[in-house]
Amino acid sequence: MKIKILGTRGKIEPKAEDHVNHTGFLIDDKILIDVGEEKYMDKHPKAVVFTHFHPDHAFFVPNKEKFIPKTPLFGPEAHDLIPQLKVISGKFEVEGYTFTPIPVIHALRLKSLGYIIKKAEKRIFITGDVAWIEKANLADLPPLDLVITEATFIKKGGRINRKKDRIFGHTGVPNLIRLLSPLTKKIVFCHYGEWFFEDTPHNSKQKIKALEKEIPLVPAHDGMEMEV
Ligand SMILES: [Zn+2]
Ligand SMILES: [Zn+2]
Repeated sequence: MKIKILGTRGKIEPKAEDHVNHTGFLIDDKILIDVGEEKYMDKHPKAVVFTHFHPDHAFFVPNKEKFIPKTPLFGPEAHDLIPQLKVISGKFEVEGYTFTPIPVIHALRLKSLGYIIKKAEKRIFITGDVAWIEKANLADLPPLDLVITEATFIKKGGRINRKKDRIFGHTGVPNLIRLLSPLTKKIVFCHYGEWFFEDTPHNSKQKIKALEKEIPLVPAHDGMEMEV
């Protein structure tokens, strides 16, 4: 599988060279995961899969434009702006890729899913934005070749909000490393928050690299390609 990370900027104002675009991942030039920028549709994906419907993952949300490309669309819950959306209810297959949805805790009013994507014997996991993932949802997973996750907060604990018994927001990079390292050979980070833009991209990437222990940690940039 060839994975292209189209955007690495979270839902924030600051940007930097090579860290301009919002979230999108292109698998083998065929499947697009999240559409943080309208221009990603110029890649003519054969299917589009959403992790959740925050504006930095679904560019059409702020302007309330309908999203009606002639492309199969999949997502975690129905959405007024996407009449043709197929709501994911379990494992599904598209264009020869098997998607296993993993429930992710992230937003109070939106459902979020991460996806294990399998082709031949290769498996990657795109988490989307994460406040937390219940360990039960990660139990008994087959070994992963790559995890792509987020880096909104570099500090431990991130920023978690609480309402009654619910949590939402983003956990920290150190927490994600602890949670995800046992599952995979490598972790790639994108979806950078404010902290990343307070220093040069080079120095900020070093802050992620400094947390490396058992497995390689790779800070991504817009347009970065990798192969598993
Ligand atoms: Zn989000
Ligand atoms: Zn986001």
